[in-house]
Parts: sequence; structure tokens; C-alpha cells
Amino acid sequence: MADRDGVIWFDGKMVPWREANVHVLTHSLHYGMGVFEGVRAYNTDQGTAIFRLQAHTDRLFDSAHIMGMKIPYTKEEINEACRAAVRENNLETAYIRPLAFYGSEGMGIRADNLKVHVVVAAWYWGAYMGEEALEQGIRIRTSSFTRHHVNITMTRAKSSGAYMNSMLALQEAVSAGADEALLLDPEGYVAEGSGENVFIVKNGVIYTPEVTACLNGITRATILTLAGELGIPVVEKRITRDEVYIADEAFFTGTAAEVTPIREVDCRQIGIGRRGPVTEKLQKAYFDLVNGKNAAHAEWLTSVR
Ligand code: PMP
Repeated sequence: MADRDGVIWFDGKMVPWREANVHVLTHSLHYGMGVFEGVRAYNTDQGTAIFRLQAHTDRLFDSAHIMGMKIPYTKEEINEACRAAVRENNLETAYIRPLAFYGSEGMGIRADNLKVHVVVAAWYWGAYMGEEALEQGIRIRTSSFTRHHVNITMTRAKSSGAYMNSMLALQEAVSAGADEALLLDPEGYVAEGSGENVFIVKNGVIYTPEVTACLNGITRATILTLAGELGIPVVEKRITRDEVYIADEAFFTGTAAEVTPIREVDCRQIGIGRRGPVTEKLQKAYFDLVNGKNAAHAEWLTSVR
């Protein structure tokens, strides 16, 4: 990742990609307290546009607030940094990664007098699990690693440290031959994937876990809006692992994963064993929306020009 051409917005300035470096005693590298976002820009008929930029920036600031970290920029400055990172790297479609982290001014968990640094990088990143996964669906496994309790790492924050748990779960799932993990909350109810929210469909109704043990996903919120507009009922509730086994359809949502169908859980086929009709409808509506083909939510697309 480090050895490439381009520029990265680093503490208010664009710096050459290879020079966007930090010291080995960077505090966040040791203790994992950093907050970040994953944002996507799409190539619409009106040019390259960032999807739900304001929602992502708001969540970045909320994450920092939860962690007691003060971002030394305004939301407008971060929005501009995201637009500039796409534009100045000449990207038509992009994955954008804003990150706020503590510098190397001191060590120890007291963490006083540390500087908060902010970077925004942008690069091309295609379908997170491959194009085929978007049509055929993926195979997932319930993880032996439990998702965070609401009172441990603060599940409303998209924090760097929270992803140790995601990585443990994903490594385990992949080693067992699956594509992704399904994590359960500390009480054993379905929480989310390692980097996605989860939905199931049963008898024409969509179900998704309440936002307790899972991240308050922006794609999740978008899907709830689209489902409402398509007249598909949605219920947010506790979901058990075996409810997923007997669902008609299941899918993951996320900025990176977009709308990815799930065709198998714990070696049990879900529904017809590939993308189901409700998933397909929502996936199409999602791609139409992000690609600027749905005038109803034009305010969710921010041009990079
Ligand atoms: N859960 C986790 C753990 C994630 O990392 C992500 C990706 N940010 C999501 C859910 C989906 O969130 P969003 O739709 O905002 O990308």
C-alpha cells in the first residue's frame, strides 16, 4: 500500500504517498486508539461523487467524541479533504479512508498531551469480495469469537482497536474455508460480520439486529430507507443464529461490501443458495442510488469537483 504514486491528505496538506509516514512510537500503533471511516466515491453521470459523505464525517466525529479524542479540524475541512483526496489522485471511483490517531509525543495509557493527527487517503478498490460474490453470494461461518459487548469498546464508535476482534473472526472463518464470519453478541444473538451489517429475509419481511453490538452502518441505514420506499417491511430485532439458517435470504451490507448476498451459513444453504429476489431488488436499488441513477436522494452524492 505504501509504495505507490499519488498524494495523501495529512494534517491539512497533501503529501506525496510514499512520504506520508509516522514514527514507530506513534501512540495509536501501540494501544489501538484511533477512529476511522470507510467511504466510497462512484462514477456517476454527473462525474465522480462521494456517497453519503456527511454521514461518514459525522460518524468519524462521533467516534472521536466517544473516545474522548478531539479532531483538530472542522467537519467541513474533513469533507473537503475527502473530495480533494479523490480529485488529486485522479480517481473515477474510490475507497476513501479518513483516520484520526494519536501521535508520538508520549507513551503510556494516560495519553495526555498527545497530538491528534488526521489523514485521508483514497485509492481504487473494486468489489470487496469480488464481482462474483455480488451475484452468487458468499459462504459464511458463525465465529467462535464474540462481538464486542456494548460496554467494552463502545460499539457506536468505528475505532481501530475494535477491528482486532474483526480480524480474529475473519482469519478463523477464512481458515475454515468460508468467505466471511458471522459474529454473535455476548448473549449469543446475531450481531454482524467482521466488516458488515447483516440482514435476513423471511416471508417477505426484512429483519436486521438492532444497533447494540453492531456498528451503526450507513449502508444499513440506506437499505432501511430503500426498503421503506420499495414497500418492503423491515423489523429491527434480536435475531438468533438458527433464524439465519432457516431464512429465505440473507445479505451483508457495508460501504466496502455494498450489498453482498449470503448463500450459505455454517454449511447450511440459505434459501435458493444464491442471491434471492428481495436481495436482488435492494442491491439494484443500492447500486442505482450510489451511481446517481435515483434522483430521489441526490443530496447523498457530493461531487468531488
Ligand atoms: N460493521 C462493521 C464492523 C464494519 O466495519 C462496517 C464497515 N464500516 C459495517 C458494519 C458497515 O458500515 P457502513 O455501512 O457504514 O460501511
